Amino acid sequence: MELVYTSTRNANETVTASQAILKGLAGEGGLFVPSEIPALDLDLDELAGMTYQETAYEVMRRYLTDFTEEELKNCIDQAYDGKFDTKEIAPLVSADGAYYLELFHGSTIAFKDMALSILPHLLTTSAKKNNVANEIVILTATSGDTGKAALAGFADVKGTKIIVFYPKNGVSPIQEKQMVTQRGENTFVVGIHGNFDEAQAGVKNMFSDPDLAEEMERAGYQFSSANSINIGRLVPQIVYYVYAYAKLYANGEIAKGEKINVAVPTGNFGNILAAFYAKQMGLPIAKLICASNENKVLYDFFSNGIYDKNREFILTSSPSMDILISSNLERLIYRIAGEDAQKNSAFMKKLSEEGRYEITAEMKEQLSDFYGNYASEEKTAQTIRRLYQDTGYVIDTHTAVAAAVYETYKAETNDTDTKTVIASTASPFKFTRSVMDAIDHNACDNMTDFELVDALGRISGVEIPQAIESIRNAEILHDTECETNQMQETVKRFLNM
Ligand SMILES: *Cc1c(COP(=O)(O)O)cnc(C)c1O
Repeated sequence: MELVYTSTRNANETVTASQAILKGLAGEGGLFVPSEIPALDLDLDELAGMTYQETAYEVMRRYLTDFTEEELKNCIDQAYDGKFDTKEIAPLVSADGAYYLELFHGSTIAFKDMALSILPHLLTTSAKKNNVANEIVILTATSGDTGKAALAGFADVKGTKIIVFYPKNGVSPIQEKQMVTQRGENTFVVGIHGNFDEAQAGVKNMFSDPDLAEEMERAGYQFSSANSINIGRLVPQIVYYVYAYAKLYANGEIAKGEKINVAVPTGNFGNILAAFYAKQMGLPIAKLICASNENKVLYDFFSNGIYDKNREFILTSSPSMDILISSNLERLIYRIAGEDAQKNSAFMKKLSEEGRYEITAEMKEQLSDFYGNYASEEKTAQTIRRLYQDTGYVIDTHTAVAAAVYETYKAETNDTDTKTVIASTASPFKFTRSVMDAIDHNACDNMTDFELVDALGRISGVEIPQAIESIRNAEILHDTECETNQMQETVKRFLNM
């Protein structure tokens, strides 16, 4: 059966899966959603014996119905290969009464690799299927993490080029080094003399400039985006929840059909939305625990039904969750509004005009699958320290937000029996300073970033990931800088236009 995708803002805009991947965003700012959530009609005993790649095929083929078996398997094989430092791809680690699902074994040691390692292949396959002959140029503005994960995913993928803009003085030294040492003939990295918002605005302007699009077309190029609202990023994220459940069953940790909780450190609402889709497919999930840091817009939303971004933006030790507009929440709003594009559009209009909207009582009733809460900076650090002291296991700051909120959940609900999977979204080596600071506040002040990496390696007993080792002495390959008003000419220069 062919699944189609419709826009959350226009019921008449309907496309195939491959077209949705190519387009990224629907018209009028809408997001593509599957017209129905497919069922996971597979026996658990069968799933339990599958590799990550096999599980990925079974989950993804139910969403990307216009891909042939060969096309989809090719994409999967090129994505989940030796780039990951473990054969399991997403291993489960049991610690302190919970199961940590480690989503950070890819090339940039954060969970965005789970989707960004396959998106380039889904995109080039989609281009072929739709007879797009142009070369695809990915433009990305980054405040750090996404840029590197996108660069690593697209590096040397035929038929694509990737150009990443970052604020020259606005990312951490390790993040900058990760990007400017990126290999691949088709990769370009630019430090702009401005902040992240200016980088983002510059990229948006290029995407929506019809003259530029025409010029690109003549030169045989077209733009595309790798951002987290693309269904080509959402669908691959459903896979690891199914995989984790099957592995818990295979390892005798749960009975067949036993419900589990899932706790997710949340920013843009992409990762937890994937867990929600897994539940809709029939995976036995009880509560979806949505964990925020001090930017607790989502906690407030789940508490009172009011989404309100009019508040101070707080810089925390979990920067990938420092977000006031969680773009993927729109897909949930659309669903609880009865899949009514008009209703959803009205909420989104309010959000863009007033920065705030309130859902109805009937909509709020449909949020009972979710539990939302947040963790303070203090509580997050304490959670890292306590887990390390009790078990020796070291988690990163983002994962710690989820672990802390899971503690709060247990205390508030007395649900201490349901087995719980915590999405572990980054390696502690990616946020070494904050992690080491949480464990031993006094020891870190005079240490360089790489000294801290070595110290973390010693205390955790975990081998330092290749992603960190390889940038220690790597050669700088990108040194382009530009003013904020020169971004377009920089792109044209890269493309020889
Ligand atoms: C992006 C990111 C998150 C947030 O995920 P969303 O899908 O945006 O909710 C959490 N942790 C880390 C390490 C991330 O990079």
